[in-house]
Amino acid sequence: MNKKTYRFSNGWIIGFYVILIVLYLGVGLCLSQFKISVKNVPQTTYLIVIVGLLFLYAIMFLFMLFQYLCRKELSYIFILGIAFISCDIYFIETIYIVQALINDSVSIEQRSNDIAIFYYFRQLSFIITLCIGIKAYRNDTIVIEDKQKKPILEMITVIVVVAIGILAHNLSSYNPDVVIDITCLKDDLVTLHWELRYIYSLIAGWAIALVYLTLKTRLNNALWVSIALMCCSAILTNLLLITLDEYSMYIWYVSRGLEIISALCVISILMFNTFLLLKRETESSMRDALTKIYNRKLFYKTLNSAMLRGNVCVLMLDIDKFKRINDTYGHQEGDKVIVSIVYIINKSIRDSDVFARVGGEEFGILLKCNDKQEAMVVAERIRQNVEKLTLPPNVFGIKEQMTISIGVYFSSPKDESGDKVVSYADAALYAAKNAGRNKVMYYCGPHELTCPCVQP
Ligand code: GH3
Ligand code: MG
Ligand code: MG
Repeated sequence: MNKKTYRFSNGWIIGFYVILIVLYLGVGLCLSQFKISVKNVPQTTYLIVIVGLLFLYAIMFLFMLFQYLCRKELSYIFILGIAFISCDIYFIETIYIVQALINDSVSIEQRSNDIAIFYYFRQLSFIITLCIGIKAYRNDTIVIEDKQKKPILEMITVIVVVAIGILAHNLSSYNPDVVIDITCLKDDLVTLHWELRYIYSLIAGWAIALVYLTLKTRLNNALWVSIALMCCSAILTNLLLITLDEYSMYIWYVSRGLEIISALCVISILMFNTFLLLKRETESSMRDALTKIYNRKLFYKTLNSAMLRGNVCVLMLDIDKFKRINDTYGHQEGDKVIVSIVYIINKSIRDSDVFARVGGEEFGILLKCNDKQEAMVVAERIRQNVEKLTLPPNVFGIKEQMTISIGVYFSSPKDESGDKVVSYADAALYAAKNAGRNKVMYYCGPHELTCPCVQP
């Protein structure tokens, strides 16, 4: 898969989520005119949202953890994972508080303030951890694992996350002497008032993280783009809270929904890119690095499975006097000749035929054809095309005219293995070499006498 398709596909996912966020905000803000007081909202509704976020962030953490365990050089992935799982500490604290509200054992004002405190510190913890993750990111990540690497940034992240968690817990109503007031209930005892400086500081934090992320990573992979989108939606979420001094509980839900959508976006991008990577790796494990056609492993695998379904037609091809090209013009010129001949052969067969590089300058083709005559026609066409199109001056810039020899074999039900079939085609190929090269030969088998053929 080429890079263009890769970007294009990620662009679709990101575009989808941007549209979803815009639609969601549009509908959400229209409905927000119906103000809902703190007391009227069933706490279970809020619980569902928070539990949803808790699991989404846990999944994200697991995803990043496993990715890190497979590739330890990606320490930024581990740190980002910590950023997500650190949020779960605050979600659990919040769930505990909301549960307490159901039992009506603590004042609403106190618990609303606690929820706000955990909201504030959750985002603070995420922003700081995200910045450490961005710092740990290296554009030129080496594939080979550095065994000497010390996980200093990882350790710092864990310490910071735990410290902020302890701080948040102690600044809440669990510790009445030092509790900070982020929200207070208004005189009407229904609407909440937010201390806007806390919201401003969160907006500033997200904006700094976003700028740092953009400058350091240049948004050069889909994960960073989706995290940037997450920063934008977090800024939006907090802006919503500012505009609502007359705090409506409804907007609180709208902003949590926004968080869910952006978390889903990050998960989608992570999953999509994992499968994309898998696809690319599978593709490249089947292909030859120089010519990009199939490799020997794929050739034999396909041949063996094709034989289970019926007869197969095999062509074995070898470039004539190729060593001389290397000796005269060097290896680079030799490579150019191989790539050019592969191009010509590829143009001479159909997409459904399996064309593979089975050795240095040896190739195999599994041809889709009905009989040996048809196979000989295709083989002859390939041979002529190579001879004709490499004649200097040619479009490939090859310095000498090249030719190839081809051995053909159409299998019969008696043939027991793929190796045997290839050995018959090989026998025909070497007969073609012995007959003076630049020839197509057919292996007839012990009893058949059609020519040109090779007797074993
Ligand atoms: P023949 O007509 O009998 O096939 O003669 P030949 O010279 O083509 O045969 P031989 O098998 O002796 O030479 C093949 C050469 O191909 C030897 C090796 O150095 C070269 N070769 C194998 N793989 C590559 C490659 O990837 N690049 C280049 N440039 N040369 C390669
Ligand atoms: Mg050769
Ligand atoms: Mg050879």
